[in-house]
Amino acid sequence: PETITVQELANRMAERGADLVKALFKMGMPVTMTQSIDQDTAELLVTDFGHNVKRVSDSDVDLQTEVEADPEDTLKPRAPVVTIMGHVDHGKTSLLDALRGTDVVKGESGGITQHIGAYQVTLKDKSKITFLDTPGHEAFTEMRARGANVTDIVVLVVAADDGLMPQTIEAINHTKAAGVPMIVAINKIDKHEANPQRVRERLLEHDVQVEAMGGETQDVEVSALKKTGLDELVEKIQLQAELLELKANPDRAAEGAVVEAKLDKGRGPVATILVGRGTLKVGDVFVVGAESGKVRALVDDKGRQVKEAGPSMPVEVLGLSGVPRAGDQLQVVENEARAREVAEYRQSVLTQKRTTSAPASLESMFSALK
Ligand code: GDP
Ligand code: MG
Repeated sequence: PETITVQELANRMAERGADLVKALFKMGMPVTMTQSIDQDTAELLVTDFGHNVKRVSDSDVDLQTEVEADPEDTLKPRAPVVTIMGHVDHGKTSLLDALRGTDVVKGESGGITQHIGAYQVTLKDKSKITFLDTPGHEAFTEMRARGANVTDIVVLVVAADDGLMPQTIEAINHTKAAGVPMIVAINKIDKHEANPQRVRERLLEHDVQVEAMGGETQDVEVSALKKTGLDELVEKIQLQAELLELKANPDRAAEGAVVEAKLDKGRGPVATILVGRGTLKVGDVFVVGAESGKVRALVDDKGRQVKEAGPSMPVEVLGLSGVPRAGDQLQVVENEARAREVAEYRQSVLTQKRTTSAPASLESMFSALK
């Protein structure tokens, strides 16, 4: 993920470095002039100072195709996509594992858990929730930098014994910058030293008001270790999802975002795609970032081959020409000639960018500062 020093940002904003340091301190981030901050924090700061910011990363404004909205009557409800963020060791991985255990079809499917970067659970009432399984804000910001705003809801994990820590505050900033609703999971409530009320109070200092403090942010006490509070957390996610009225058209050519991608020894390039709209099917021809391909096989998060994947479903795609990047967009196109043409054009745009604007990513990020 990209960063910028406070001094550099101050120069670009034509503000005094000391004023930025002061503002950052108020945001709960005690940093010095020479220290670096991440994009989302920079963006918040810029906005705070009344400047406009336009995010332009090394990727891809021109790699994205304009998104055309689907007609209202084609839209059907879709599962929420949830990202878990929080400070290191506060229990993100433990919570993701525990939530995986709430899947009612897990036992009967015969499939074996595969770590593909995202998974979907089916709840007792048959509704589903998709969890991005690459916790931490790096994946979140990397995807967002490429224009892939796949997260509908952020679950912020705060350890009740440790309280708010620097990465907790960063996560809050990322979530706010993305305009994504947040649910606070106060974890490790089983611990003797746990002090959830202190967490709620400290959150106030960062403009996060949980319900018990008169605000609207939902919070829930959990123990990922003892597996308590999980049902309540799931209920709150469902409630938040209902408010968002998440919908997509499943009956169209698929579009999705790369969650992670790798070169697999046996299977060649493999990408986990989170389908945004439409239904991705075996045999579909597609472009993804600057690569193209034809879906040879689709594999779900339980290692089972599936024929298709609809909105909010994460699925491994085989049959790519190369390895795309996290956050790249996948689009199904009419034929292979078209796929190659688009991919080649995108390759040339990328090459041009790399040669003409070597260290330009941050430069361009703030180029639109006014
Ligand atoms: P991450 O870095 O945020 O992914 O945190 P982990 O899930 O790796 O957890 C860090 C440590 O905290 C591990 O030793 C976990 O066993 C422990 N841990 C996680 N959740 C709980 C909990 O609810 N209660 C207690 N007592 N320990 C927990
Ligand atoms: Mg972890």
